[in-house]
Amino acid sequence: MSCLPSSTDILIIGSGNAGLSAALSAAQTNPTLKITVIDKSPETWAGGNTYFTAGAFRTTHNGLPDLLPLVNNTTPEQASRIDIPPYTAQDFQSDLNRMTNNRTDPALSAALVQDSHSAISWLSAHGIRFQLSFNRQAYEHNNRIKFWGGLALKTQNGGKGLIEDELHAVRNAGVNIFFSTPATALLANPEGALTGVQVLTGTPPRQATIHAGAVILAAGGFEANPRLRAQYLGPGWDCARVRGTPYNTGEMLGVAERDVHARSAGNWSGCHCVAWDADAPAGSGDRVVSNEYTKSGYPLGIMVNGDGERFVDEGFDMRNYTYAMVGRRVLAQPGQVAFQVWDARTLGWLRDEEYRGEVVRRIEADSIQELAEKCALVGLDSGRFLKTVQEYNASVEGNEVESWDPAVKDGLGTKNLAIPKSNWALPIDKPPFLAVKVTAGITFTFGGLAVSPETAAVISEATDEEVPGLYCVGEMLGGIFYDNYPGGSGLTAGTVFGRRAGRAAAERVGQMK
Ligand SMILES: Cc1cc2nc3c(=O)[nH]c(=O)nc-3n(C[C@H](O)[C@H](O)[C@H](O)COP(=O)(O)OP(=O)(O)OC[C@H]3O[C@@H](n4cnc5c(N)ncnc54)[C@H](O)[C@@H]3O)c2cc1C
Repeated sequence: MSCLPSSTDILIIGSGNAGLSAALSAAQTNPTLKITVIDKSPETWAGGNTYFTAGAFRTTHNGLPDLLPLVNNTTPEQASRIDIPPYTAQDFQSDLNRMTNNRTDPALSAALVQDSHSAISWLSAHGIRFQLSFNRQAYEHNNRIKFWGGLALKTQNGGKGLIEDELHAVRNAGVNIFFSTPATALLANPEGALTGVQVLTGTPPRQATIHAGAVILAAGGFEANPRLRAQYLGPGWDCARVRGTPYNTGEMLGVAERDVHARSAGNWSGCHCVAWDADAPAGSGDRVVSNEYTKSGYPLGIMVNGDGERFVDEGFDMRNYTYAMVGRRVLAQPGQVAFQVWDARTLGWLRDEEYRGEVVRRIEADSIQELAEKCALVGLDSGRFLKTVQEYNASVEGNEVESWDPAVKDGLGTKNLAIPKSNWALPIDKPPFLAVKVTAGITFTFGGLAVSPETAAVISEATDEEVPGLYCVGEMLGGIFYDNYPGGSGLTAGTVFGRRAGRAAAERVGQMK
């Protein structure tokens, strides 16, 4: 293990997908440069939130022939039964517009869409193993494997595999990585150009300076900081469960504002938040269970709060267009909890990795009364719940199981309910029954720093110009996501802008030499 350098050409703060994409891009642009990554976490937490992901990457494509060369898990027999509609630039852009209520920054989102496919091909060329996401994004129906939701790719072994491959690629490219090294300040010369970073290093921690020709901020959002969550997201958010790394506590956002007048951008009261196992730990994800605490099977059943009332249209869109805002709705319920409920008709469609007995407390029963009694022991108003199920069942009378199709918006909705379920609504009356208790799990925050779309250079509030030599990528970059989020866009955005920032930083430092 080499010693922390006192100077480097490019310093990257954060060892997640955005930081490692930037490191790889910088090394590729100019292999003679010295590139260093630091991370505040110990090596046992390498990879930040990225480690916890499903490794889902959203990209434009022209259908299966365009994707097959990128993946390693599809036999010719499977390929002959796969339906993947093309996902065009227009589709991706309109998803971003729709999810964000047209608030997404037009130039940033256009860059994300435009570079999405080449970013994934580039990762693949650097040894990142991609697969078709059969388990998450496809349903087998009438002997066809139907992909849905504009999302078809994931990395092998999810975020764990992604980080393993990215660490391997950057180390091969000669990049040095130092863990347990938090950045605490940005240093600039009198003209405002970045000259380095102050860090803490060693045990006990002492202050050190790393001089650098360019710095790339890739230190995540403030999702693991209860105080900042309460401050920016609002009351109750301090109590949300953290899905990923405990080290994304947002201080670099404040440091950039304090030290170089970085401009804030984006949806500071917004975040990505899912339905999450109520028994999951509070302050961080679990590196073994990881993403399996997610509970995203609600479109297949119903969801009620502790008072036994439904509170959300479980079927208003395909799951990967709703899951990132459903957690916010759970957080607003009494006690920040809810119960997801299914019967025998749809139980078999739940994904094993989220609902098998080893990862979640399954509340099982042979009658809906028994289910209500068992759930009452963990906080459900059983009387009101039974009434809710009765009303719901009456509202779906006539919905034919033959027309039910989870791979499309099948239009099987409820009738005359104050809170509808717009698709996939079948009665809940066939034993056995299953319920699981969920709470709100925060994924990442949407507020960040303003950047130039071409280079991800940070914009100064003081000059309205780019801060020379400072770039910002990943969760720290503000302005793309507002309110909601099309699944799989965060990793793609991290690579698209990480790649741009790495290239721009390497060109800048190369010219300075
Ligand atoms: C459970 C879960 C599942 C997800 N699934 C997906 C998915 O399938 N697809 C998708 O697109 N997105 C997914 N996301 C969102 C995704 O995590 C992010 O969009 C992306 O991985 C973030 O990458 P990043 O590099 O910006 O941040 P991170 O990967 O979080 O890396 C940030 C790093 O910065 C370090 N750091 C923080 N402060 C400092 C400091 N002061 N000094 C030095 N280092 C610091 C942290 O320790 C951390 O390692 C998921 C997130 C979670 C939590």
